[in-house]
Amino acid sequence: MIQLIRGFKDILPGEVELWQKIEREARGLFENFGFREVRIPIMEKTELFKRSIGEDTDIVEKEMYTFTDRGGDQVTLRPEATASIVRAYIQHKLYSPDPVQRLYVIGPMFRRERPQKGRYRQFYQIDAEIFGVRSPLADAQLIYLLLLLLERLKVVGAQTHINSLGCQACRPDFRAALQKLLASVGDRLCEDCARRKDRNPLRVLDCKVPACREALSDAPSIVDYLCGDCRKDFDELQAALTSLGITYILDKRLVRGLDYYTRATFEIQTGELGAQSAVAGGGRYDKLVKELGGPDLPATGFAIGFDRLAEIVGLQAGDYQPRPEVFIAALGERSRALAFEWCCRLGREGLRVEMELGDKGLKSQMKSADRLGAAQVLMIGDKELEEKVAILRNMQTKEQIPVPFGTLMETVRRLTKGH
Ligand code: ATP
Ligand code: MG
Repeated sequence: MIQLIRGFKDILPGEVELWQKIEREARGLFENFGFREVRIPIMEKTELFKRSIGEDTDIVEKEMYTFTDRGGDQVTLRPEATASIVRAYIQHKLYSPDPVQRLYVIGPMFRRERPQKGRYRQFYQIDAEIFGVRSPLADAQLIYLLLLLLERLKVVGAQTHINSLGCQACRPDFRAALQKLLASVGDRLCEDCARRKDRNPLRVLDCKVPACREALSDAPSIVDYLCGDCRKDFDELQAALTSLGITYILDKRLVRGLDYYTRATFEIQTGELGAQSAVAGGGRYDKLVKELGGPDLPATGFAIGFDRLAEIVGLQAGDYQPRPEVFIAALGERSRALAFEWCCRLGREGLRVEMELGDKGLKSQMKSADRLGAAQVLMIGDKELEEKVAILRNMQTKEQIPVPFGTLMETVRRLTKGH
């Protein structure tokens, strides 16, 4: 038997209802906040991710599904959505006439990481981006929206971590200070960090290896190096969060694993996920649109780990499982033929209706109705066929009423409302 690929998974009925519920809530909120969906391909030219995420990152160095296709093109299954959304924003000139665009994407991402709980090779993200807004209020709005979604999904214990990564003006000073420290602890760093510390020292702050974390416990804090503009923005973000009643943790280690971030970065963490503590992350990337060939426009966004979110929501998939409003139990071939017609017509009218299409006894059909949690059962056999009156049983009250064929559609529809 051929099994699925390691790190990939099926989301089956029984669990998928929860995913659908999460997706409905997310879409509803996005609509409220003026976001519009974009659907982008799951594969792009490798170059797009290399240039945006950065060559010295875990994602680009080790995690991408990259291959040469049959025509000789270098392509990659998207490891995240932001790069593709930016590409689409530029390619279709979505900045014109109005640069301000709120866009979202829901879909699968691919990273070849070591599979474990909360870490898969195909995983899903809910991704939101705001283009063309320089104000930190856009960052505050994203964080608010994220927390609101978690609240609606009854996630408890979410913690908001924020940091600023500065800009081209102030980051070099911080980089220099960090490099000084890295030079003194160099021999304690893991292989990756030892290699990256000169080319991309910020990456070391993001390393999860305990020895590296230990070595960097005295690392300078980037917010001590912010220039006037970045300082002002960061203060404004914090003031906005406070006015929205959001408590947050200033986290000097929060640099995020992608190179394109500038200024505000944030992450939502929870204790419920074990080692995989981040359920969502995001931040500003004010230079990326320009770097990928577009106009010099700022942007900010976040990505929620859908799989991790589904693991921590305080909701039960069972609560969202569809139950038939009507189950039709028919005995005998002629009754079944008529019942089949009703079944199709009721479905067409928007009712949730099921029936047994094979030749089964009444007892077995009633069992199915019970198992499916049907609200009502419409019964028809030879006697009912002759009298042209079916029987409708309310499965909760056990009450049964006769329903003449002539008024059947209307009666069933009327009695089904409110279930
Ligand atoms: P981590 O630090 O856990 O590796 P990350 O910083 O690589 O996360 P991002 O690129 O910021 O993750 O992606 C945003 C969110 O996507 C993460 O917070 C997480 O919830 C989710 N995510 C990332 N990688 C995976 C994965 N391999 N499997 C499941 N979810 C993931
Ligand atoms: Mg990662």
